[in-house]
Amino acid sequence: MKIAVFPGSFDPITLGHLDIIERAVPLFDKLIIAIGQNSQKKYMFPLEKRMEFIQKSVAHFPNVEVDYFEGLTIDYCIKKEAQFILRGLRNPADFEFEKAIAHTNRTLARRKLETVFLLTSSGKSFISSSIVREIISNKGEYQLFVPDAVRVWVMGNEQCVMCNINNHILWKT
Ligand code: ADP
Repeated sequence: MKIAVFPGSFDPITLGHLDIIERAVPLFDKLIIAIGQNSQKKYMFPLEKRMEFIQKSVAHFPNVEVDYFEGLTIDYCIKKEAQFILRGLRNPADFEFEKAIAHTNRTLARRKLETVFLLTSSGKSFISSSIVREIISNKGEYQLFVPDAVRVWVMGNEQCVMCNINNHILWKT
């Protein structure tokens, strides 16, 4: 069984991520979208919301799972018996960064883990979670770059999002 892990922060999931996911689905028997959680890092959206946005966006794919992990990506891949890591490439900067990580992971995993890269579709290469967060913070038209699940929730909770930006965590559970 070919199992791939697509790791990332997904803060929040964008149409760029979704493009990579949709194109990877036919390539693997199972695709696990795994949110890497780093307790030192500040996120705009809490883990539960990031998971919910992804779950709603991929609900129509029976072979896609959504999960989270802490620690090294390769340890998580070994635990899930995955042979592949999936990553998206947008530009030369992504390539340089990803190349070092892919070589490192392959070495750490004693060559039992391959990183598979998909090039972003034309028209989606400029989308990034950090730009989306910037647009949300400045009350711009972020709706153009995110899936419905994110749009609907942020529109209904704009006040919470703004509070979180100011470091007053007021998330509804
Ligand atoms: P990370 O913090 O690990 O980079 P991200 O959530 O920003 O996590 O990205 C996860 C993966 O999705 C990365 O491989 C990244 O290159 C890819 N990605 C993000 N945006 C796009 C996009 N617009 N097109 C293609 N791949 C993308």
